[in-house]
Amino acid sequence: MDNLEISGFELGVETFSLPSNKCRIKKNNDDDGAVWINVEKVSDEPLYYSFDGINGLCLTTKFGSVRKKNLLLELASLDIKNEDLILQFLEENGFFFPLQNGTVSMKLNDCLNIIYRLMATTELISDLGSMDPDMDQMLFSTLYLLLGESVELYNDDTNKTIFSSPLHEAMNIINQSSIAVNTDYDTDEAAEKGTYTVKDTVYNGTYELDAEDYDSVISGDDPWHKNPENTDARYRKIISVYKTNHNLNRNSRRIIDFLFHYMYEVGVIKKIDYRNGIEYYKDPQGKTIDEQLNSALMITARIVVANEINTIISRSVRPFFSADTLNTTWRATSLHSALFFSLFYMRPGKSVFRRCANPTCKKYFSVSSTNGRRIYCCKKCRDANNSRMHRIKIKKAPDS
Ligand SMILES: [Zn+2]
Repeated sequence: MDNLEISGFELGVETFSLPSNKCRIKKNNDDDGAVWINVEKVSDEPLYYSFDGINGLCLTTKFGSVRKKNLLLELASLDIKNEDLILQFLEENGFFFPLQNGTVSMKLNDCLNIIYRLMATTELISDLGSMDPDMDQMLFSTLYLLLGESVELYNDDTNKTIFSSPLHEAMNIINQSSIAVNTDYDTDEAAEKGTYTVKDTVYNGTYELDAEDYDSVISGDDPWHKNPENTDARYRKIISVYKTNHNLNRNSRRIIDFLFHYMYEVGVIKKIDYRNGIEYYKDPQGKTIDEQLNSALMITARIVVANEINTIISRSVRPFFSADTLNTTWRATSLHSALFFSLFYMRPGKSVFRRCANPTCKKYFSVSSTNGRRIYCCKKCRDANNSRMHRIKIKKAPDS
């Protein structure tokens, strides 16, 4: 039986019940040089939250009056390179995850990566809902969610998972695949024309994959150190799955096709990091994404965003009818999932987050997409940037 779907219903002000408290976060280094954070509850008084369609997830008093609006926007507008500001946000607004026995410790890097995934998802929703999307940003956020470092957090006492980043099925297939070393033309037809014909969702149904290229990546040899990308384990798996594994659901196949074509035609990605960007084996300068690959990127971005949000919401947020008040509330297992809930209701086409066009600011601000022309977060930034642009014009054209 099909599920009954209720689409686009409007939420009023919803209260949120979730376990979170003010906390103190201390950084310390372990013997291997990794930075850890110790998070300690500073008050037994819980924090209270509410959600509404205009202000997003808010911090409230016990009685529901709003103390601080739109926590997601506040987090998004922080300078992401400054980890102390991020930790301060968590101290004030509650830690992402419940504090077992009042404390929790985790690697700083894991904590930051969890935040970066949330940011990348927020940016993707904004770009997908924008009339004038930033395609470079969309490419980066999509690749980051697919290929960036994933996070697994366990509670050592209970042996239960606290959090694991939602990996799309396509990535599990790639990660778990073994490379079928099957070089030197596996069919007579391929030997004759020098290519393998591969079913493909990006280019008109099929793609002619150069057999020599394929064989040299699959064999993983690079005796002259000219093509170090051919020894990259992930790339070898992607190209292998691309050619051989066609019995998959359509969305997984689309992701695999996109990743293959992006790496094969633009550049093989060695590492992707939210703060430092993409590291390639060879500088892809001048290589561009053609129209078909661009459409494949848009589709992949949608699949990735949906997977990220659906996975987190379905495992950690549910509606709840209160016997005390006879009202509906929402229960979330953590502040992290409540922030995803506010993303869930950030409708593309209704409101978008946009980065301020003043290069010395670059903060995120929220605009309704019907007011799509606004590019500065505030009047001060508009004036500052207008006078800066004016100075540049004068410098460039001294005679006019
Ligand atoms: Zn600004």
